[in-house]
Amino acid sequence: MVKDPVCGMQVNEATAAATAVHKGRTYYFCSPACKATFEKKPEQYASR
Ligand SMILES: [Zn+2]
Repeated sequence: MVKDPVCGMQVNEATAAATAVHKGRTYYFCSPACKATFEKKPEQYASR
């Protein structure tokens, strides 16, 4: 399990609804909406 950086939910990498790669790292999201939010401001969410 990994943490959705946008909403903080625990997400299973195998069943994540959406993923995004930022600076060589893969992020997992509970929904496409969280991915869209992340991609608007990746710097804000990529840094914990
Ligand atoms: Zn989420």
